[in-house]
Amino acid sequence: MHFLIIGGSDAGIAAGIRAHELDPTCEITLVLADEYPNYSICGLPFFLSGETPDWHSLAHRTEFPGIRLMPNHAAESIDPIGKSVVVRNGSGVQLELRYDKLLIGTGARPVRPNIEGFYLPGVFPLHTMEDSFAVHRFMEEQQPKSAIIVGAGYIGLEMADALTHRGIRVTIASRTETVLATVDPVYGRLVEAELQRHGVEVWNQVEVTSIQSLDSQLSVLGTQNFSRTADLVLVAVGVQPNSDLGATAGILTGTKGALRVNRRMETNLADVYAAGDCVETWHRLLNRYAYLPLGTTAHKQGRTAAENAIGNNREFAGSLGTQVVKLFDLVAARTGLRDHEARRAGFDSFTAQTTVWDHKAYYPGARELHLRITGDRTTGCLLGAQLLGHKNSEVSKRADIFASALYHNMRVEELNDLDLSYTPPLSSPWDPVQMGAQFWANAVRKESPVVIPSA
Ligand SMILES: Cc1cc2nc3c(=O)[nH]c(=O)nc-3n(C[C@H](O)[C@H](O)[C@H](O)COP(=O)(O)OP(=O)(O)OC[C@H]3O[C@@H](n4cnc5c(N)ncnc54)[C@H](O)[C@@H]3O)c2cc1C
Repeated sequence: MHFLIIGGSDAGIAAGIRAHELDPTCEITLVLADEYPNYSICGLPFFLSGETPDWHSLAHRTEFPGIRLMPNHAAESIDPIGKSVVVRNGSGVQLELRYDKLLIGTGARPVRPNIEGFYLPGVFPLHTMEDSFAVHRFMEEQQPKSAIIVGAGYIGLEMADALTHRGIRVTIASRTETVLATVDPVYGRLVEAELQRHGVEVWNQVEVTSIQSLDSQLSVLGTQNFSRTADLVLVAVGVQPNSDLGATAGILTGTKGALRVNRRMETNLADVYAAGDCVETWHRLLNRYAYLPLGTTAHKQGRTAAENAIGNNREFAGSLGTQVVKLFDLVAARTGLRDHEARRAGFDSFTAQTTVWDHKAYYPGARELHLRITGDRTTGCLLGAQLLGHKNSEVSKRADIFASALYHNMRVEELNDLDLSYTPPLSSPWDPVQMGAQFWANAVRKESPVVIPSA
């Protein structure tokens, strides 16, 4: 059996590894358009900040037993009838590769907004290793003192942290109401305060319209009279599925043009699977497909596809949209649905917010941890959680407890039954997760005077 994989990042590599684990006799070929198999693009902000100075260390493995890697080979077309793929290598030579089973893991590409001057020197997107090298080269050669980041999603914010770390003065311009629009505005504003505490200037509800060269700088203009100059501009306004290859071959597409797959990660073409940022993702709570491009999801989908390709029967369990980001000393995380998302999906949602100590207040270093829990008033089921706290407050561990509870359809009150670990320097006999759950339940029963509706 020849398993051909297109794409050498999270989805593709996870698939290749799993196929070889389960069937070492399976012939596996992996083609990727660039030269960086298995490189963690999630690590790019930390390479650019200088915290991980050697980009080579972004890949913990560069060789995979049982997988024939073909870097610098871009797939150009798929013939689903003849079961072959035409690829072109870096020297322009074309060759045809036959397959028994095919996986498409071509990922995403950054949205290129309609901003005049987007292609000027000194203006960069950030999605690939090559993008990061271009930014890095510019920083080494031009020694920029200031930067404007267009977009305040997690990549834009991680880059605000990274550039500040390098001593560059950062301004963020975003069209959202607050930064980090994946959490409620009340938390977005706390993130904003952390950015400002580190000298980052934040402009919300600004639509950047043009970038112009002005002397040796770049002048960025937008709505709300936004007008700033800087040495470097980074545009991070989201991604879109890189699905053209699959779509041209006849694979149906859905949300945002992502490839349609079932939960076995099969497309509508026989023996053709797809996984990662190029596909629609099954949402476990919404019971429908959505576009949720995340590295964690890409790995699981690639693994699921490989299991099915070698003859097992496995379904992707679905995403909860669990995500976490560190910005300076702050960590923000979310899992599941926010109030308005749950309401739109037909749940009787109710959100309560509380702030507790991350560990026993008598032990040095206790800090406030903010929790915002969304549950269903009728069934008592947990629907989602947002958390914000200091980077040493085990925010992601706590978000993951909520994610695990969501996976098992737990009721909010059942969180109190979990046997969680405790020692005063790290937690309390009731972990903050459980204090939040108790607060939510009391608020629902109208026993608590403080209920903060979703902003
Ligand atoms: C700066 C940054 C930070 C991030 N941080 C996080 C994080 O902290 N946590 C998280 O969960 N996610 C994070 N993500 C998202 C995560 O990196 C992606 O969800 C993940 O990389 C998707 O993996 P993928 O395999 O689907 O696609 P990609 O990583 O996009 O890789 C696509 C692969 O396909 C290859 N390819 C494309 N077209 C062709 C073709 N025609 N022929 C051959 N090969 C082709 C490419 O060369 C590449 O190997 C981050 C992303 C970025 C950009």
